[in-house]
Amino acid sequence: MRAQHYLGPRRPLVLADLPTPRPTAGQVLLAVKACAVCRTDLHVIDGELADPKLPLVPGHEIVGVVIEKGAEVEKFAVGDRVGVPWLGWTCGACDYCRGGRENLCDRARYTGYQIDGGYAEMAVADARYCFALPAQFDDVGAAPLLCAGLIGYRTLRMAGDGNRIGIYGFGAAAHIVAQLARFEGRTVFAFTKPGDRDAQDFARALGVEWAGGSDEAPPEALDAALIFAPVGALVPAALSATRKGGTVVCGGIHMSDIPAFPYALLWKERSLRSVANLTRKDGEEFLALAPKAGIVTATRRYPLAEANTALADLRAGRLDGAAVLVP
Ligand SMILES: [Zn+2]
Ligand SMILES: [Zn+2]
Repeated sequence: MRAQHYLGPRRPLVLADLPTPRPTAGQVLLAVKACAVCRTDLHVIDGELADPKLPLVPGHEIVGVVIEKGAEVEKFAVGDRVGVPWLGWTCGACDYCRGGRENLCDRARYTGYQIDGGYAEMAVADARYCFALPAQFDDVGAAPLLCAGLIGYRTLRMAGDGNRIGIYGFGAAAHIVAQLARFEGRTVFAFTKPGDRDAQDFARALGVEWAGGSDEAPPEALDAALIFAPVGALVPAALSATRKGGTVVCGGIHMSDIPAFPYALLWKERSLRSVANLTRKDGEEFLALAPKAGIVTATRRYPLAEANTALADLRAGRLDGAAVLVP
């Protein structure tokens, strides 16, 4: 099968011809239909995350059809369409797993990081971590739900029930979470790179109340801010836009250093927290909600062979929504 191979930090992916993977007893073998490109893939390829397998097939927003399954798989049948997210395996035994926080499992393994992912014609996945996908989404449209959507959902939940939600970094996750927040009756304020009119217009087209640069103050103080851009300087910016008692949630896996800031920005019971990974419960909740909320994903498709172009476009901010690779 053809697959894109990551061989080491800051090297372009290489299109390789690899043996077809074989499913073990608990795995499904998938014919990949689409795999969205996530900013985390850039962090892996840039060597910013510590523990990738090498060589590695990246990609953790996989839509595929089951073409073979291991003897123990009962959840899916051959022919079923499934989604494979970032969370690929957990131990089931550590305090976090037993306490309903498998996203923090001490021994977790992640798709497209420690497990070969979906930048390929075929992939294997542990069936217990795969999701059924809502029929309303086609293959390309469903792919960004599997990380941008899921992590966006968890990030919004961690922000609490406040009405005025600020979103810093208006890419794949933001464009989904903005639709979800609007469906829940909230008011959304979008912050982009200063001067990025295209991203601000894209946000306005999704019904946000206000769109501006991350160096601007919103017209009203925020109840909560979600940060999806990997820029530590946005943390004090978001805190200063957030009202007393509000919450700032960092949704990314990696961020540049957060600059020192006056304690007064945090004082008056503002909270600052991160979101890490996902639980299967998040996935089930979000994938049930996405069609009800009428979420429409904005995608740009690329042939599998052009993965490096898709990554470059993401890095340069040339995308509205998500890049999706199609084998
Ligand atoms: Zn991701
Ligand atoms: Zn565990």
